[in-house]
Amino acid sequence: MENPEVADRLDAFAALLELGDANPYTARAYRRAAETIRGAPSSVAELVRSGRVRELRGIGPGIEARLRELVETGEIAELAELERELAPDLVGLGRYLGLSAKRSVELARALDVRTAEELRAAAAAGRLRGVSGIGPKTEARLLEALAREGEPRPRRGLLLNRARELVGGIAAVVGGEVAGDVRRWRDSCELLAVVCASRDPRPVLARFTGLPQIVAVVEQDERRAVGVTVDGVPVELVVAEPQRFGTALVRATGSPAYVAALEPLPEAPDEQTVYRGLGLPWCPPELREEPFRGAPPALVDLTDIRGDLHCHTTWSDGRASVEEMARSAEERGYEYLAICDHTPAVGAVRGLTADEVRRQGEEIAAANEVVAPFRVLRGIECDILPDGRLDLPDDTLAELDWVQASVHGGQRMPRRELTKRVEEALRNPDVRCLSHPKGRIINRRPENALDLERLFEIALEQGVAVEVNGLPDRLDLRGEHVRDAIEAGVEIVCSTDAHSVRGLDNMVLSVMTARRGWATPAQVLNTRPLPFVVSPISP
Ligand SMILES: [Zn+2]
Ligand SMILES: [Zn+2]
Repeated sequence: MENPEVADRLDAFAALLELGDANPYTARAYRRAAETIRGAPSSVAELVRSGRVRELRGIGPGIEARLRELVETGEIAELAELERELAPDLVGLGRYLGLSAKRSVELARALDVRTAEELRAAAAAGRLRGVSGIGPKTEARLLEALAREGEPRPRRGLLLNRARELVGGIAAVVGGEVAGDVRRWRDSCELLAVVCASRDPRPVLARFTGLPQIVAVVEQDERRAVGVTVDGVPVELVVAEPQRFGTALVRATGSPAYVAALEPLPEAPDEQTVYRGLGLPWCPPELREEPFRGAPPALVDLTDIRGDLHCHTTWSDGRASVEEMARSAEERGYEYLAICDHTPAVGAVRGLTADEVRRQGEEIAAANEVVAPFRVLRGIECDILPDGRLDLPDDTLAELDWVQASVHGGQRMPRRELTKRVEEALRNPDVRCLSHPKGRIINRRPENALDLERLFEIALEQGVAVEVNGLPDRLDLRGEHVRDAIEAGVEIVCSTDAHSVRGLDNMVLSVMTARRGWATPAQVLNTRPLPFVVSPISP
């Protein structure tokens, strides 16, 4: 059994534990273990057999026992039982229709249906209104949702990393290409799609509808199906005739507005030929948001990035040491890494005092001895206090190579006050970059009221860059704002804000977000060699 397969089973187990109202910590522990296993460099099945699996982070005796059962018998008995008891296909369908997991299970019991198909039949026969708690309004809403035509969407967008994992996993198994919002690297993905090329669509559709990730099929015709996950997220599969694959891929990639402006599309086996037929140069998917028929610029690429300028260590809320982070950055081919732990005002987690910043400086100097010629920079993610002052004394900031300024608390300040507060901070001569300027947490906290236009003026005047934070739930600045910053002449920094070694992988999310803002390498500060990024550099 391969690692991704093991991880999928643990994820399924976690989803069902959640449905069954198990302790939420247990479900979360299984999800974390699944993530660890997906990223593990060696075979987990081997580790289980040799009794070494608990060396992996987050795998305790309970999860080890499940893994042993899975590796030895190919199944987890309790998982199979939960699947029988909880009918994940009904739950998936219910969530897609806007019902909670609990409500879906209640509904299924009351109607005595076991599958999504039976639920549809019961609804069509008018049996919904006989269920206690379902009034005519809810019935009408459910019937309408069941009959919904056109583009299926989840009730809220998926984070890009989760969507990539889900759609990428499905595309790999059915031998297709990722399309939809994921291919355009949207910060929140709603249209999830995979396109395959095949003369005979039946085996591909069968493979798709049989996937463990797909618990129910809500639409199906000859060359297309829409399945939903246990979380109620719809995924579309299109099986194109091979000679029309390129056309189908352009359409399924979107955005709908971009494609509509190109129609009618010529039929072609690949995208290059579609574009050639239109008399246009090929367009990178991440630029296909608004109608556009021109020649795209040479966008910044992951391989242009020479260093990461925002990461955390165990000195604040990170999980790895300075040296571990540095070695991992070096393995990624970088030339430098800035350690930017928090300052005390961040509140929720530990922050460094001036004294600790100096002690950390000694550790960074020692790390530099062993990782040279790679360079670890002394940085800080310094909180901007409510009055615009910074959370460390000026003489401490002046010692550092790289100062990020961040608003953490008080994101809800009115526009004028917040803008003034940030403006004040950017006027500090040691500040080099503004972190996550709009302060949003996708699906949880809206963007703050910061006046970006005003802010970009100050940033330009003060020589301060703005960050494209690569944390999957931030992606801040987002593409549209990156474009505004670039038009204002402000430099961009692509950073991960990594809190672990694996967090450094999120650079791709930051770079793709910058590309969505049309950024070229020259506009991204950390594509440059170190002397052009920071000066002077600490000894
Ligand atoms: Zn921050
Ligand atoms: Zn940070």
